[in-house]
Order: sequence, then structure tokens, then C-alpha cells
Amino acid sequence: MSNDRPVRVRVAPSPTGDPHVGTAYIALFNYAFARHSGGRFLLRIEDTDRERSTKESERAIFEALRWVGLTWDEGPDVGGPFAPYRQSERGDIYRRHAADLVASGAAYPCFCTAERLAALREEQKAKKLNLGYDGACRLLSPEAVRAALDAGKPHVIRLAVPREGQTVVHDLVRGDVVIQNATVDDQVLLKSDGFPTYHLANVVDDHVMGITHVIRAEEWITSTPKHLLLYKAFGWAPPVFCHMPLLRNRDKSKISKRKNPTSLLWYREQGYLPEALLNFLALMGWSVAENREVFSLEDMIREFTLERVATSEPIFDFQKLDWLNGLYIRALPPAELARRLREFMPQGRACDEAFVLKTLPLLQERLKKLSDYATMAEFFYAEAVHPTVAELTPKKASPVQAADMLSAAREALSACEDWNAATMEARCRAAAASSGFKDRDLFMALRVAVTGAPVSPPLFESMALLGRDRCLARVAAAIERLRTG
Ligand code: GLU
Repeated sequence: MSNDRPVRVRVAPSPTGDPHVGTAYIALFNYAFARHSGGRFLLRIEDTDRERSTKESERAIFEALRWVGLTWDEGPDVGGPFAPYRQSERGDIYRRHAADLVASGAAYPCFCTAERLAALREEQKAKKLNLGYDGACRLLSPEAVRAALDAGKPHVIRLAVPREGQTVVHDLVRGDVVIQNATVDDQVLLKSDGFPTYHLANVVDDHVMGITHVIRAEEWITSTPKHLLLYKAFGWAPPVFCHMPLLRNRDKSKISKRKNPTSLLWYREQGYLPEALLNFLALMGWSVAENREVFSLEDMIREFTLERVATSEPIFDFQKLDWLNGLYIRALPPAELARRLREFMPQGRACDEAFVLKTLPLLQERLKKLSDYATMAEFFYAEAVHPTVAELTPKKASPVQAADMLSAAREALSACEDWNAATMEARCRAAAASSGFKDRDLFMALRVAVTGAPVSPPLFESMALLGRDRCLARVAAAIERLRTG
């Protein structure tokens, strides 16, 4: 084990689509561990799948990880002592290592055609045998291999997995998993185009880059025996492995786009705060003392131990995320919240931070996501609101009665010498009483007339902020609408 070396960990995403929330989750645990131990955190781009990898996706990964605040010490864009950190630029390193394995007899070229492999698979299926390569090319004589290579026959390089014995995966959170070597396939290391497979590139890079702990998602645990066999074939000491529990949909299946938003960009657009998202992701696989649910990244770093990583199956629970996000929003100093709301203004309006600050006492408590602001505060920014007659009419009342309520309110409001919430409320209550309406009904009609909706921030405080002219104009427009239908 590599415990005595300075900690070096990595996150190794494949740039094949939107930056995944699972990448932030795994990056978070690696980051916390590195920071806790005074080690280094690397970002490596695993882009050996040439068809599916894109630069755009790579850029989005950088951006999304920076957005959540998990910055790396070494990586493709920041460099480092083991550059390049992009696998597509490391082809020679993998080919050299594959050649070393062939030279030592731990790997061999395989010339089997796709047709032969397909036929083999069918036969194994029909006979209900384990699927996998049968090792035919392992038996080729050195002369036959040389002749095939000289003739330029396409081939891959496979690992000669020992037929006997067993491989023990020591997983830091899961304990030992024992695999019989006979069940492990002679995996391909180098494809016929000279590109490495995930297994070869991943193991070579982890070793060459001095990775001490591989902290990755549980879905890779089935690859780990293959990786351990590769370490052994190279004569290298393997890193410590720690497989994190997968994030799951409500039905316990692995988190998927179909059932949950998985793109980190989506979380940013919705207005989740990075600190809330990190707290949420941390809870999915870890706990602090006394099972406290709310903690900062600094708390996590201070208290982090891999031993406390959970093995349970965490459900990605949006209610909890929204709850946490609301909590973090409420805890923000208003000036900071106003700054973060810049990109969330109603109808993409320019942000007047002084005015946003005035709305916050009415709204900060209510925001679950930054994007809620655009809807909840819309009426403060709009020229006018356009409720329908039905919306303006309180239950059990008629449009004519609603118009009468609003007329009474208008009169009372016009008479307010001070445009403040307490005066307006007192005047409107008195107007309801003297005109024989329930104040609840009158307030409802007034709320819809002024804010455009039956649910709003506190009515009279909102009106104080909106100002006399705009409020009276909205009430007048509503009366007009109710009277003309
Ligand atoms: N490229 C793999 C991924 O996309 C890396 C898995 C690992 O960490 O070994 O998750």
C-alpha cells in the first residue's frame, strides 16, 4: 500500500457529454481527502474514446468544476509535473508500456477478427458458458506471431491473465472482494488502432502520475481486479482503492438523465448554490460527527476521513437539495445574494443591485433557488400585471363585487398621506369594514390586482416598495378590467 507517500488523488472524467453531477460528487471526495491530507488533487481527462469525446464537453467539465469550487492542482489546463493530463496526448506512453508487457510475456498480440469473436460469443451463449475471449492467440508460437506482425495483420494487445489463483481487491470501505482469476477475461489493452483501452490508460496513468488513492464510483469496482492484475503484470504496487456508493434515482437505479437532471450546468442555471450542492453531494456518501446535515466544505475538509465513507445507497432527493439550498440562500448576506442574483433577473433585465437589495427583505426567506427570484419578483420589475377577471374575483364573490372591493381600496389608498405598509393596511381594513366586505376578500383582490398572482410576498410591504403611482395604476386597471369583463 502507498500510505506513506504524500497523498495524490485524481478525478478522471471522460468528456462525452454534459458535465455530470456524479463527476462533482467524486471530485468532491477526492478534493476533501487531498486538502485534508495536504496532498495534491489532479484532473485527468480520459478521452480515449475518440468518437464520443469532445473539446466542448471538456471545457464544460472545467467550467462546471470551477463553478462548484473544486479546483485542481494539476490538470490539462493548469499543467503540472506529469503533463500532459489528457490521455489522447499520451499515446506513446501507453504503447511503450504495452510493448513492455508483451516483451515480458505478460501480454500478447491477438489477431482474431471481429467475425471470429462474434462467432465465439454466439457459441459461448448457446452452450451457456461464461462469455469472454478463449485465449486462442495466447497459444500462437513466437514464429507465427512474428509472421503475422510482419504481414501487417491488424491486432490488439491483450493481457495474459493467469488462469489460476485469485485476486483480492482491498477496498477501503467495502473490505475485501475476492475474484477467481479464471473468471477474468484476457482484456484488451491496446486497440488495433494503437489507442489504449480505459484499463491500460487508467492504470498506467495512475502509476506514472503517482496516484496514491483511487477514489471513484462503485460502478468501476468490477474493473478493479483487471487493474490489479495489470499492476501485478507491470510489477507495480497498486494504489489504495475506495469505491464510492452510486447516486441513485428514487427507484434505486443508477442516477440517469431520464429520471433526474444530471448536468451540472442545469444545477447552475436553476440557481442552486455551489456550496449547497456540495453539502448535498457530501451527504450522499459521508457524514460528519453527530450526523450533522449542514456543513461547509471547510468543515468537511477538516473532518474528512475515508473510513467514514458510507456504503449505503444514497437516493438523490430533490426535496432535500431544495431545503438545503433555501437554507444557504437565507444565510447569505443580502449584498452577496444580490450579487449572485445578477444572472437571474426577471426577463433578463439589467440588475439594479440597490433595488434588488430593497426587495430582499421580502423575498430572501422564500427563495429555494436563485431562479425563483425571477418569478417571485417579476411584479416589481414589470410595467404592468395582467390578471384575468376570474383571478381578480375572490371565491364566492362576483366580478362586480370585486370591482367594488378594489374601488373601496383605491379610495382608502389614495387617502394615505404616508405610503407605508402599516398605514395602508389600517386604511384598507377600515375600508373593508365600512363597505361590508371581508378584509380577507378585499386583500385578495388587491393582492392579485397589484402583484398579478394570489400568492406573493407580504402585500403591503410589497406595495410600499412598488410606490404609490404604480400601485394605484394597477388597481385602476383591475377595476376597469372587472367592469368591462
Ligand atoms: N474515465 C472514468 C470515468 O469516466 C474514470 C474512472 C476511474 O476513476 O477510474 O469515470
